[in-house]
This record gives sequence, C-alpha cells and structure tokens, in this order.
Amino acid sequence: MLINSQILDLIGAPERTLELLSEPDRVIHFRIRRYLPPGHHVVHVFVVYHNTARGPPYKGGVRMSSHVTLEETIQLAELMTYKNALMDLPFGGAKAGIAAESTLSREAKSMIMHGFAHELRYELTSGNFVPGPDLGTGPSEMADIFSETHIRESVTGKPVGIGGLPGRLEATGYGVAVITARAVREFLKKELSETTVAVQGFGNVGSWLCTFLSEWGARIVGVSDVSGGLYDPNGLNIVELRKHAQQTGSVQGFEAQRISNEQLLSLDVDVLIPAAVGAVLNTKSAPEVRARLVIEAANAPTTPEGDKILTKRRIPVVPDILANAGGVIASYDEWRKGKSGTRTKREETFDTIRSILSETFDHVLEFADEHKVSMRTAALALATQNLVETMRSRGWL
Ligand code: NAD
Repeated sequence: MLINSQILDLIGAPERTLELLSEPDRVIHFRIRRYLPPGHHVVHVFVVYHNTARGPPYKGGVRMSSHVTLEETIQLAELMTYKNALMDLPFGGAKAGIAAESTLSREAKSMIMHGFAHELRYELTSGNFVPGPDLGTGPSEMADIFSETHIRESVTGKPVGIGGLPGRLEATGYGVAVITARAVREFLKKELSETTVAVQGFGNVGSWLCTFLSEWGARIVGVSDVSGGLYDPNGLNIVELRKHAQQTGSVQGFEAQRISNEQLLSLDVDVLIPAAVGAVLNTKSAPEVRARLVIEAANAPTTPEGDKILTKRRIPVVPDILANAGGVIASYDEWRKGKSGTRTKREETFDTIRSILSETFDHVLEFADEHKVSMRTAALALATQNLVETMRSRGWL
C-alpha cells in the first residue's frame, strides 16, 4: 500500500482512510485464447479498478508484457488513483495488464487487443473504464480498442485521425522533461544546458523525453532499452538515435560505447531517469547510483527499500505520480474533446501539461519543505488530501 499513518497524520485525515484506500474496488481476470503463429496462446489479462472516489471513469493504461502479474497490476492501478488525485482529475485509478510479450508483431498485438476490448465491451462502452497506452502498447493498440467500441471517449492515446489528441503521443515524455528542467534548477541549482542525463528505456516515454531534453540543451550521455545500453560522454545524437531505433527496433548497433542496464543506472551523471520497467532501483542498485537527482518517468521504478537508500544518501527523487503525469493530463483533454468533438493543437496540449505540472511541482515542493518530508511523501499526502475531501463530500468518510 502506498500510503500509511504518517501520511494521514501530515494532512490530519482519519485512520479509516487507510481502509478505504487499501484494497482495489474490483479485480477482473480473464483469458484470451488465440492462434498466434507459430501456435495457440492463452493470454492472461488482469484489469484492476483500484478506487473510484474521483470517478468513474476508472482511468489507467494497458500494459502488455510477459512480466505482467496480478500483483503488479494492482500496484499500478493504486498509483493511478493517487496520480489522478494529485493532478486533480475527475478519474478513479485503474490499470490493465496483458501477460504477452511486448515485442509481439503488430498483427499479434492487434488480435489480442480486439479480444481484450471484446471481453470488456460493457466496461468500455458504458464509460466505466477508459484505457490508455502503457508499456508495450501505443496508438495502434488504442485504435484496436476504438474499432470495437466506436466511441471516441472510450479510449485515449488514439491516433490523431480517429479523435486522438495532437501531442498525446509525446505528452508523457514532454511532461517528464518539464519536470526535469524544473527539478534540475531547484535541486542542482543548474540549467539544463549544464546537465548530463542517463535514461533507461527508449520507448515512447524515454525517446520523447530524450528528444525534448536534448532540444533544450541537456547532454544525454547514456540510454538503454531491453537489449542493453549505450554511453557517450560527449552526448548521444538523439535525433539520429531515434531514427536508428525506429529502423532497427533497438538502440543497439548505434555508434557509442556499449554498456549494460546495470552500468547505466550507476553512471556518474547529474540526472538519472528510469523510463522502462518497475523496481529497477532496489537494494542492489540504489547504493550504486551516482546521479545527483532521480526523476521517475517509469511507474514504480523504485522499490520501498531502494527509496529508503536514496533518501538516506540524500539523492532527491521526483516521484512517478508527479513526474510522468503528462500522459494522463493529455488523456483527460482527449477524453473531454472526444465527448465535445472540439479540436486542439499540439502546442495547446503542451501548454496545459506545462502549466498543471509546474503548479503541482511547486505545491509538492512547498509541502515537502514545510513538513521536512521527501517529494514522494509530499506528493502522496497532497493526493490523499484530495481523495479524502472527495470521499467526505460523497459521504464515504
Ligand atoms: P514502451 O513499451 O514504449 O517502451 C518501453 C521501453 O523500455 C523500451 O525501450 C524497452 O526496450 C525498454 N525495456 C523494457 N524492458 C526493459 C528492461 N528490463 N530493462 C531496460 N529497458 C527495458 O513503454 P512506455 O510507454 O515508454 O512506458 C515506459 C514506462 O513509462 C512504463 O513504466 C510506463 O508505465 C510508464 N508510463 C508510460 C506512460 C505512457 O503514456 N506511455 C504514461 C505514464 C507512465
């Protein structure tokens, strides 16, 4: 569970809050059976609705990965409850996990996504659950869901031509870059142009955040994906690396020194940004971190033990529910515009993200300073405060 009595004490919330936020509202588990060459597959799917105080809809991404488990899906749904509350969005927290290889062909993913949306038809068409992209899924998979529902606001992160929001694709990475620039100034007293960065993960979030950060002057010296990492002390050419990764499906083969994912996490850089999978900063890796600042672009990249180690070592960590919320802010816009039919320009999407994230960063920092707690505790406390107020107004507390 993400919150505890210490967080409730900070905001003067009753102990009963823990009970209301401890267990997910609902867990759905089903199997999709498909022939995916070379054989038949049984794909397990978990959909978790964590808490709907601020919904419905329940809002959260669809993860496709062979490492998906029910426990992970519950943890990620819980994160969404707090992320949505921290951003003051009228959404409950949810997540879907599809236990299939993230590297499956587009055809195979499409068959799975159609099965997913067919099975969840009522949840999606009633507006109870509004999925979006996450690890292993993107606009094409969201289009598969739309092809089953034919309702624009039933899914976000769609391609622009079918009601997707210009800027949604880049939104999470853009938001992480905005937060990084702000945090570098605040914690390192530097400008981005004087800053070195290492990023784990070069998918949607990682590649876009590298693009924005390098455009704004930062030197991206290390990058990795599932196949391993690259290092160049002079800075990697992100435009060329993106082209290479798009053509070959991986960062490997690009001209730079090869390093492992473990080495990437311990590079001597100003900022380390995990932007891939969970639990990578743990008891083993956290003592080796040499970065001066950690920005969580991935969801739950730091274990509770890893967090304690980083806190003890006085390495500030900007938590996931703040750092990567650009995606859900844009999704909220896409969802509203799906209902009204209005259109938005890419720059407007970025303006909205920048303004909400900057304001929220300031609130979290102020709370952290005032109460002498970490940015994570402050972010969770402010999110819980919003949840408590909403639950009170609904007569739940
Ligand atoms: P993606 O599937 O587009 O990319 C994932 C990247 O991580 C790929 O480069 C992949 O090779 C790499 N990777 C996978 N396993 C790895 C491993 N074990 N070690 C190192 N690298 C590994 O996914 P994404 O959408 O970019 O999501 C990345 C993270 O950001 C996830 O934690 C996700 O939950 C989080 N996130 C995504 C969004 C979004 O809008 N897509 C929003 C908020 C948070």
